[in-house]
Amino acid sequence: MKYALVTGGSRGIGRAICVALAKEGYSVIVNYARNREAAEKTVEMIASEGGMAQLLQFNVASKEEVDNALDAWDNEHPGEYISVLVNNAGIRQDNLMIFMQDEQWNNVLETNLFGFFYVTRRVLKNMLTRRYGRIVNVTSLSGLTGLPGQTNYAASKAGLIGATRALAMEVAPRKVTVNCVAPGFIETDMTSDINQDEHKGRIPAGRFGKPAEVAAAVVFFAGENASYITGQVLSVNGGLYT
Ligand code: NAP
Repeated sequence: MKYALVTGGSRGIGRAICVALAKEGYSVIVNYARNREAAEKTVEMIASEGGMAQLLQFNVASKEEVDNALDAWDNEHPGEYISVLVNNAGIRQDNLMIFMQDEQWNNVLETNLFGFFYVTRRVLKNMLTRRYGRIVNVTSLSGLTGLPGQTNYAASKAGLIGATRALAMEVAPRKVTVNCVAPGFIETDMTSDINQDEHKGRIPAGRFGKPAEVAAAVVFFAGENASYITGQVLSVNGGLYT
């Protein structure tokens, strides 16, 4: 059995990634923070198509929760390991820099960047021992170009890109690849407060993207055939930035 862990698999892009990886034959570990009902729905969607999935609750921003949950998973699955990790969990708490609260800065960095560190460090050990792994990090257009009101979010996502490039070099000899997918505007709960009509005019494709369109890029990097592609950032943004 090949296992794939998707952080933030309960909703939006993460859910679409879970469903797409299950279709590729992975047994999917659906992580979520608070929203158990939504996470269960992801598992049901996979099961209804004959796929395999299980829930694993933890807050990616908590080192203790990450280690405890993954230690428990390892104990329950002797001899098995997670060969695909998708660091998708993320939040945004926008504010102009002069009004930015410590809490807004810390929350976003802790979830989007520290979360990547805690989960990846823990899962990587087994990938290195087994000499195979695929790590895909969900960054953002904002991490490439910056967006006003998002100094915290842009810093976290740009940090993710730097970390991806460094780690890709570190682990390439052990046949572990590390890549980023950088979505533009995608229709999810995260963007439900954004007026699409105000923004879609500047997107060459003329519309917001769908979560499944991001998932397709993640599946590509996660595939065994993508073995010589590492340290890359693939934009999925309808041509908004290339
Ligand atoms: P979303 O609909 O708001 O879903 C966020 C997901 O992350 C949920 O599954 C949530 O779990 C989980 N999550 C949040 N904090 C967590 C934590 N501390 N620990 C574990 N899970 C946590 O967001 P989305 O739009 O799908 O975004 C997914 C990723 O894509 C994020 O990294 C985001 O920054 C990135 N992205 C999104 C867009 C876009 O336009 N939507 C664009 C660029 C990049 P619960 O359900 O339990 O809360």
